[in-house]
Amino acid sequence: MMERKTEATSISVLDSLARLQRMATEQATVRDTNTLVLIMMQQLKEISGTRIAIWTEYIKEKNALKVSKVDVDNRLLQNVIRLAGRELLSVEIPVDFKLMDTKAEGQLMYWSGLTEATEGKVSPEISAVVKRLTGLDRYISIIHLLDGQLYGTSTIGLSADQPDPPRQILEFYASLSSVSLHRNQAEAQLMAERKRLADIIEATRVGTWEWNVQTNAMAVNDRYLEMVGYTRREMEPIDLGTWYRLIHPEDKIMSNRELEAVIAGEQPFYEVECRLRHKNGHWIWIMDQGKVVRWSADGQPLLMSGTHLDITAKKEVELEIRKERDLFASGPVVFFTWQGSPGSWQVERVSANVEKLLGYTPETIMAPDFEYGMLMHPDDYHRVVQEAVEFRRKRAHHYTQTYRVRHRDGFYRWIYDYNVPEYREDNEEIRIQGYIHDETERMMSQEKLRFAKEQAETANMAKSQFLANMSHEIRTPLNGLMGMMQLLEMTALNHEQQEYLQLAKTASDSLLVVIQDILDYTRIEAGKIQLEETVFDIHILLKDLVSLFQVSAREKKLHLGCNVSEKVPVKISGDPFRLRQVLTNLVGNAIKFTERGEILIQVRHLSNIETREEELVFQVSDTGIGIPLHKQPEIFDSFQQVDSSTTRKYGGTGLGLAISKGIVEQMGGRMWVESTEGAGSTFYFTCPLKNQTPS
Ligand code: ADP
Repeated sequence: MMERKTEATSISVLDSLARLQRMATEQATVRDTNTLVLIMMQQLKEISGTRIAIWTEYIKEKNALKVSKVDVDNRLLQNVIRLAGRELLSVEIPVDFKLMDTKAEGQLMYWSGLTEATEGKVSPEISAVVKRLTGLDRYISIIHLLDGQLYGTSTIGLSADQPDPPRQILEFYASLSSVSLHRNQAEAQLMAERKRLADIIEATRVGTWEWNVQTNAMAVNDRYLEMVGYTRREMEPIDLGTWYRLIHPEDKIMSNRELEAVIAGEQPFYEVECRLRHKNGHWIWIMDQGKVVRWSADGQPLLMSGTHLDITAKKEVELEIRKERDLFASGPVVFFTWQGSPGSWQVERVSANVEKLLGYTPETIMAPDFEYGMLMHPDDYHRVVQEAVEFRRKRAHHYTQTYRVRHRDGFYRWIYDYNVPEYREDNEEIRIQGYIHDETERMMSQEKLRFAKEQAETANMAKSQFLANMSHEIRTPLNGLMGMMQLLEMTALNHEQQEYLQLAKTASDSLLVVIQDILDYTRIEAGKIQLEETVFDIHILLKDLVSLFQVSAREKKLHLGCNVSEKVPVKISGDPFRLRQVLTNLVGNAIKFTERGEILIQVRHLSNIETREEELVFQVSDTGIGIPLHKQPEIFDSFQQVDSSTTRKYGGTGLGLAISKGIVEQMGGRMWVESTEGAGSTFYFTCPLKNQTPS
């Protein structure tokens, strides 16, 4: 009967306890233990109508419970507590929680009286007083486990004669929960923090290591192993020896030096960039950083921890850049960064090879009192400044300049300067990135070329001048000779004398033609040929031309024809004398170089729809010996003949076509040839049409 009553009591007590426990959990966010305790005690009294609440704390080190707070409403009781309180508050009750650990969640555990529970620490007298006043002689506790670990207990004292309802009994609440909860919360926070850090470490893809300096044992994370391509099993046991097997021999020395300095406390951090051998045999670059995290009391390092960062990609780029820089530094191009306004350049940075180019060290050139502009040749300085100002005004994306700069040894060098400016809003000082290189050789050879060309031109002019003078000098006495021959012809001569005179006249006629050609040619070369501008009938001109050549054509049994298209106007304006000269030369050549067949002169009218310009196209075709393709471009040059033996066979100076082409070009036209060797040639020339036919 008694048992059942207790059982029933226990259940309602349990309900109360469960409610309390829930509250405790809800209140667990309250950081301060004291506040939590006060709240819990208040709750306890409210729920159960308790007049006294006693708070106990679990002291883990001693595996004991300590009564730490007593809260009493009843005045009488207060006196008792005051009487026994000092002792009560300091009492520590040893407990065996190992026993508790084995119990399941919510398991009830019965305690006997206070003296018994405290193993006699509370004097039987006090215990008796408390029992008399409270009527309590038994306690039940409820165990709270979390993940199998003791989390807390809730205890209620039970009075045997007044077991039910719980409201009427004096309840006694002792709990570990506050402490445990608090601890639990702190632990949860710690765990959350750990997890957060672990997440961060995972996200940053860094390897981590911890090195027990005393035992040499090492703990590393998975990423550490992944970087070097090993599984944990392949690597274990991991200690300092593992590290020495991985690191590149060349990097080991530096790493050791750094480690020693940190361990000796000479520097706070260990940091090296080193190579580790990957399982596949290649090297990876690691940024290795760490520090001593635990020291012994006598200043010995106990634990060091740090990280590995894979910097292979960065390192490869770095090496690539260094290679490029070395390449440039060994080459002829000097890189500059300037700062300032035109005329006063301050060199911010310059590559080392500047010394080879200008004789000054980079340090000298970058010194604040060094002015690059002062090295410039005085004849170039103002031009360079002016140009720079102008480029800047136009906000040129880049610009180049060429000028002379004085080498440290006193001689000048031509410099090619390429600049990329960075403009500022105010357009004042600007920063310029650029490069310079030696241009002396190129400038020299250009100068040489220019000089050679000038010389050649002067020589050519002198030759032309000489030719012109000679021809003129020859022509004057020749005219005298020819005049005398004409006079001689009018005197009485016998047959033989007349024959000789005719031969002399023919010879002097040919000579005059040659002289005339040379004079014409020298005039054309000097651009001194004067073109007339008169209106003439092109048809009459062509008719005269044909009849002039008809005799010689017939002599060679050649057919000579002329074909003028209808669209060709009758009257045009231009220089009929020069036009005739060109046609005469072409037709003369055609007859000269043709043995059988025909010579045809054609004139067409062409108008360009786009430019609306009109021109005449003249065409002289023959069925003669033709001109080999490779010779065709040359025949328009002076003194050029396809075959020098032709001079003997056909006569001529090789000036005719050069003169003709010169005249045509001066008239604003073009001249060219189409020819097949052995089949004949066609010479073309054009001249702009100035139609003067009255419409
Ligand atoms: P020349 O006739 O006085 O030698 P040209 O300047 O008139 O000088 O002609 C240059 C050369 O071009 C000639 O010597 C000849 O070799 C070639 N040539 C010119 N016209 C013809 C042509 N109609 N047929 C073949 N060869 C020609």
